[in-house]
Parts: sequence; C-alpha cells; structure tokens
Amino acid sequence: MTATTGRRLLLVHAHPDDESIGNGATMARYAAEGARVTLVTCTLGEGGEVIPPELAHLTADREDALGPYRIGELTAAMSALGVTDVRFLGGPGRYRDSGMMGVPDNDAPGCFWQADVDEAAGHLVAVVREVRPQVLVTYDENGGYGHPDHIQAHRVAMRAYDLAADPAYRPELGPAWRVAKVYWNRMPRSVIEAGLAETAAKAPFPGTAVPSDVPGVVDDAVVTTALDGAAHAGRKAAAMAAHATQITVDGAFFALSNDLGQPLIATEYYQLVRGEAGPGRPEDDLFAGLDHETSAEESAR
Ligand SMILES: [Zn+2]
Repeated sequence: MTATTGRRLLLVHAHPDDESIGNGATMARYAAEGARVTLVTCTLGEGGEVIPPELAHLTADREDALGPYRIGELTAAMSALGVTDVRFLGGPGRYRDSGMMGVPDNDAPGCFWQADVDEAAGHLVAVVREVRPQVLVTYDENGGYGHPDHIQAHRVAMRAYDLAADPAYRPELGPAWRVAKVYWNRMPRSVIEAGLAETAAKAPFPGTAVPSDVPGVVDDAVVTTALDGAAHAGRKAAAMAAHATQITVDGAFFALSNDLGQPLIATEYYQLVRGEAGPGRPEDDLFAGLDHETSAEESAR
C-alpha cells in the first residue's frame, strides 16, 4: 500500500472544460499516483459558443443541444486525464449555464446563478460525505474572473465545506466530514505576463489575451502552492483538445472562442485558504502535511 493510496481530491468547477484548463495536470498527476480524483461540474455549459463551424448548430440560440454534447467532450477529457469519477451537481442538467455576467440568461429560472446556494450545496455535501476528500479545489470569491457560474461554484463549494462538517446538518447524507485543506485556483501575475508575451511572439492566433482574460491572476506572493505538471503536460493538452467546441489547442498555446491566444501552462498554481500548509514554500503537493493522516486511515481499514 503506497502512501498515496488513501488520498482523495475533489474539484468543483462551473462548466465542462474549466477543469482541464485549470487543473488538468494536477488531476492527471494524482490519478496516475493512485489517488481518488472526483470532479463535480455544476452546469453543462449550455450557453457556450462553438468554435468548429460544423458544430455551430448546437448553440443555445439554434438547437440548444450543446449541453449533452459537452458531456461527451468532458468524458473524453477525463479519459485523457485518467479520471473516472465525474459527476454533475444535482445530476446532469439540474443547473443550467447562466451565461456571462450581465446577459439576460442570468435571470432565467433554473440557471445556476439563480440557484439557492444552500440547496445547491446540499447536493455537494452528499458527495463530500461519500468521497471524504482531504483536499477540495475551487475558485476564489470572484470565480477567478467574474463569470456568474464560477462565482456560484465558489459559493456552493465553500458552503458545502462548512455544512459537510456539521453533524447537525442533514445526517441522512452521511457522517460529517471535515475537508482538511481547501485551495483556490491561482495564476501568478509574473507567470501569465511572461506566458502572454511569448504567446504574442509565437502563437498562431490572430490576437493575444490580456491578464484580465485569465482566471485567478494574483500577485505572486498570494500563491502558496505550485504543482510542476511537466510530466503530465501531454495529458493536459489532450484533455483540453477534447473540449473542441470550446478550445483550440496548438502546440504550447491555446485559444477559446474569442481566438485570443494564451499559453498552455502545465504547472498549476493554488492558494491554500483552509487548513494548514505542509512543509516548503511554495508547497509542491496539495496533500503536503497530510500523509500521516491519509496513510494511517488506509492502514486502519
Ligand atoms: Zn467556465
């Protein structure tokens, strides 16, 4: 029994593709090491634009068939990463994509932005108490870049973190579970600025993104944890490419439907916001400091 066998990682994301862009190398690494990796995606991304012209008929303003199609893309992406435990919050289609901030879809009944946070968090509490992750990954309070579904995913994840640990909250969902460490996805400003400069010089796209297009950008000092994903860069690129309606991957670069190039960065960065940091700064492992806990629990079985 290896020291990593008892490790369990839960990631909460807004749309199919966010997990591969933000955490693809992290997910591939921990899956390869034998950890249990669970992804909860909150919407099907029904409101997304579509890059390939031959699939343009899927969009919400035409056939409105993008959600089911993106389930297939997510399945392929998770296959590339070696991740088998993928769920949609409350079941597929329970919460609909809310669109970018300020669009009429924000007000649509059934969209994730209109969801009651406690009700939505209840679905996630059931997952937390079943899986019992030591580590939870989600977005900051602005959802990384202000998309309503990302903000809501943050609220739901943080609420579920609290409620899952409260024995008085819905005991029928399972015994209370306290997640040991919570991380928010981050991108150090120096890293993205250098990456975007290289993108502008070398990438094949007609334009280049700016730092405010990129989720989670912060001053470097905010970052507590950096996972070197070089060994898993190929899997991350393959997972991103599997989301072909949303992402064009070209070598070390990619673009979303806006056709603005971004660097495909295999090292992934985090800010620890709950729990105790392990040794080293930055940490190089989301489970740093927890191995005694995970291995002791495993050997007690
Ligand atoms: Zn998203």
